[in-house]
Amino acid sequence: MYKSILVPVDILEEELTRNALKHAVYLAKLADAKVYLLHVLPISSAIINSYALGYPELKDRASIKAEEDLKALVDSLDLPKERVSYSIAFGSPRDEIAVSAESIEADLIVIGSRRPGITTHLLGSNASGIVRYANTSVLVVR
Ligand code: ADP
Repeated sequence: MYKSILVPVDILEEELTRNALKHAVYLAKLADAKVYLLHVLPISSAIINSYALGYPELKDRASIKAEEDLKALVDSLDLPKERVSYSIAFGSPRDEIAVSAESIEADLIVIGSRRPGITTHLLGSNASGIVRYANTSVLVVR
């Protein structure tokens, strides 16, 4: 049923990320689907400067670290390499996730609900933005 599953990950939240990924990998195996990991970083002045100066390869440390973490996460998944990929986007998670879901023609988005320590909200702010703005089905993992 699913062919393309988008998993937006907050790489700083190891536990939340692992939980959502477990569900995504399970569904991907059942459906022979591809899994795309996406981390959204805030637009920093370092990135704007590097592009403005014509050196887009001069990435800031946050994006280098994010890329390393995403790669490690991809390598740890129990799926064939050709069925997993990752990318980084810059801007608001809600908007970038919607754009990315369209471009990979995602038929499912799998997210964590909120950080475990925060007990006042059942759905985090990014999670609720994703649920509201996505054109596709969203699985919220608790
Ligand atoms: P909280 O507000 O408790 O931190 P969030 O709404 O930010 O909760 O996180 C819920 C889910 O939203 C995460 O599990 C992840 O799937 C997604 N998410 C949050 N931040 C990002 C981000 N920067 N990039 C990609 N996905 C994110």
